[in-house]
Amino acid sequence: MLRTTTCGALTLAQLGEEVTLSGWVQKTRDKGFVLWVDLRDRYGLTQIIFDEERTPKEVMDQARSLGREFVIQVQGTVIERESKNPNMSTGDIEILATALTVLNAAKTPPFTIENETDGGEELRMQYRYLDIRRKPVRENLVFRSRVSLAIRNYLSAHDFIDVETPYLIKSTPEGARDFVVPSRMNTGQFYALPQSPQTFKQLLMVGGMDKYFQIVKCFRDEDLRADRQPEFTQIDCEMTFVEQEDILQQFEGLLTHLLKEIKGVDVATFPRMTYAEAMQKYGNDKPDIRFGMEFAELDSLAKNKGFNVFDQQELVVGIAVPEAASYTRKQIDKLIDWVKRPQIGANGLVWVKCNEDGSYKSSVDKFYSQEDLAQWAEATKAKPGDLILVMAGGTQATRTQLSALRMELAEQLGLRNPNEFAPLWVVDFPLLEWDEESKRYHAMHHPFTAPKPEQMDMLASEPGAVNANAYDLVLNGNEIGGGSIRIHDAATQEKMFDLLGFSPEEAKAQFGFLMEAFQYGAPPHGGIALGLDRLVAILGGQETIRDFIAFPKNNSGRDLMIDAPSPIDAQQLDELSIALQPKTD
Ligand code: ASP
Repeated sequence: MLRTTTCGALTLAQLGEEVTLSGWVQKTRDKGFVLWVDLRDRYGLTQIIFDEERTPKEVMDQARSLGREFVIQVQGTVIERESKNPNMSTGDIEILATALTVLNAAKTPPFTIENETDGGEELRMQYRYLDIRRKPVRENLVFRSRVSLAIRNYLSAHDFIDVETPYLIKSTPEGARDFVVPSRMNTGQFYALPQSPQTFKQLLMVGGMDKYFQIVKCFRDEDLRADRQPEFTQIDCEMTFVEQEDILQQFEGLLTHLLKEIKGVDVATFPRMTYAEAMQKYGNDKPDIRFGMEFAELDSLAKNKGFNVFDQQELVVGIAVPEAASYTRKQIDKLIDWVKRPQIGANGLVWVKCNEDGSYKSSVDKFYSQEDLAQWAEATKAKPGDLILVMAGGTQATRTQLSALRMELAEQLGLRNPNEFAPLWVVDFPLLEWDEESKRYHAMHHPFTAPKPEQMDMLASEPGAVNANAYDLVLNGNEIGGGSIRIHDAATQEKMFDLLGFSPEEAKAQFGFLMEAFQYGAPPHGGIALGLDRLVAILGGQETIRDFIAFPKNNSGRDLMIDAPSPIDAQQLDELSIALQPKTD
C-alpha cells in the first residue's frame, strides 16, 4: 500500500507515530518558514506541516512546488496541533513531514474542490470526477451505498433472490417511449432498453422463483422534466402466492427497516388511503400528510347564495392555512397571482380571514354572512387566526390547482420538515384511465395489473369504473414506489389488451410469450418497484435526485462529461444498415 493509514483516521491517540499518507492537495498555506498542506482522501482531511526547522530542506522545497489537486505521498510523525480545529475529526493533530513524493501532478482544477464550491452546475457535471472529490458529493454516494446495502440485507433476509434480467429486450409499454438499440446481426430490427423488467419478473414467478428482487437500471425516453433522469434505478420486486395485503406488509417492513437503520426513526403509523380519498382530501395521489390543510368541499355551503361565480362550478373547495389571517392584502394578492400563473392556471382565489375575536373578514362579504363563513371555517377546520382559501372550477383541475397551492404554502410556512417521515399507501387505483386525445383507455399502472376480482363483471359494461389491486407507496409527498397484483391467466390478459385497443394480432406479436407462459401453470403473483434515486434523496433530506447519482445527465438528457449522445461514424451506421435521412422541415 502507498499509505499506512487514511486522511480521516488520526487523532491524539496516535501521537508520535510514524505514518505514511497518500491523497490530494486540497489547499496549501505558505507562511515562509512553515507551510501547511490540507491532504484529502475519501475518509477525510489531515493537515501536514512542513517546517524549516524540522523538515529537510529538499522536502521543504518540494512542498513549495505543490499545486492544488497534486497527488502526493507524505511520510511523517503525528504531532499535536498548536491551534486545534474542533470541526475536524483529525483537528487535534498534524503530520510533521519528513519525506514527500509527488505521485502525480495536476492542472489547476476548473472550480474549487472544497465543501463550498464556486463551480456552476454544468461545469461540475462536465468534471464530475472532480466534483466527486468534494465531501458533500462523496458523502451522498457513500449514503446511497449504505441504503442499497440495507435494502439488500432486508430483502435477502426475507428470502428474496437477486436475479439479473436482460437489458436488450423487446419493448414493454409502461407509458413512456423506449430507447431502442439497432441490431447489427438482424438487419432492420431493434432491441429496446427496459422501462422496467416487468414481464421478466412475472416470468420468473412462472418459473417458480417465488420471491425476486433486483436493484436495476430502467430506461424511459420521456420528455425531460426537472429532476428526471432518462436512466434511473429501481428496487424491483415480485412475489408469488400473495395478495395485496401481503405485499403491503412486506414493503412496509422494508421502509420501516430503512428508516430505522438509516435515520434512526421509528415509524408510528402506516396509513392506507384509497385513491379516491387521496384525491378528495389532498387533490393528489401522492399526498404529503406531514401537515394538515386537508381539503374541504364547500359546494353545499357556498353555492346558491347569490355568488354566481361559484354557482356554475362543478366543485368549490377550500383549505385552512394555519396562522395566516394576518396576511396583508399584498401577500394575498401574491398568492392569487401565483395560482393564476399559466403553470397552475386557476381563475383566482376567494379568501376568508378568521379573526382572533371569532369574526370573519372575506373577499366575498357581500354574498356570505358571518354564519355562512363560520360554516366554512368548521368544514375546513380553520381556527381563529387561520386563513381560508377557496377555489372553484372543474373537479379534477381545481383539485390539482389547490393541491399545488397547498404544497407551495407548506413550503413557504416551513411545514415540510425533512427530518419527519410520513409514509402511507395509496390503494384502489382505477384500472384504466380515459385519454381524451387518443379516445381510448390507457392502463393506469400497466397492462399486466389485475382488476379487483369482485369487479371482473364490470370490465365489459363499465370499464372506467373498475378499480385495480394497485398501490403506491408515498413518502413525504413523493411517490416512492408502485405495484400491483398481476393478471395470471391468459383469458383475462387477452381481455385487458382488447380493452386497451390492441388487436389480437398486435397483442400476440408483442406479448405472445407472456400469454403463452400463462398457459403453463402461472401462479398468482404481484409485486412492486421502488425508485431508489428518489428514496435515497428523501432519506438524505434532499429532493434533488441528481445529487445522489454518480454520473447524472442534465435536464436535456445529456452526459456533459463524456458528451453523449453523439453522432456515430458512417461505417457504424452502415454496419447497422441505418441511413440517416436529412430533416425535411
Ligand atoms: N414495473 C412497474 C413500474 O416500473 C412496477 C411494478 O408494477 O412492479 O412502475
